[in-house]
Amino acid sequence: MLKIEHIGIAVKNLEEANSKYEKLLGRAPYKTESVESEGVNTSFFQLGESKLELLEASSENSPIQKYLDKRGEGMHHIAFEVEDIHSEIDRLVGEGFELIGTGPKDGADNKLVCFFHPKSTHGLLIELCQEKR
Ligand code: ZN
Repeated sequence: MLKIEHIGIAVKNLEEANSKYEKLLGRAPYKTESVESEGVNTSFFQLGESKLELLEASSENSPIQKYLDKRGEGMHHIAFEVEDIHSEIDRLVGEGFELIGTGPKDGADNKLVCFFHPKSTHGLLIELCQEKR
């Protein structure tokens, strides 16, 4: 694991959240991006070495919509940057962490990503991400 790459925050309305976080952080998001496969619209704020990712559901059956229905807005996941996502998946699965889905897929911000279930991490949804090369 290299560092905390970003913290993901689930929001109901991305536009409103963007303007709120722009005031909070004193800067605009450096990008907004839709990830069709995940059913999310996202925006990213750079903050030193780390980022904040705001996530809004883009469809009814988006995992983010389910999260919002169940838990409301707030911190959704922490993403760790890794050098080699495939070997980290093997390592963590070997340690008993529960991978969600089958393996890495295309995420926002030019990354390969995967998620580990909160029930195997004391309640935290964990994302691994690796820069696409
Ligand atoms: Zn993320």
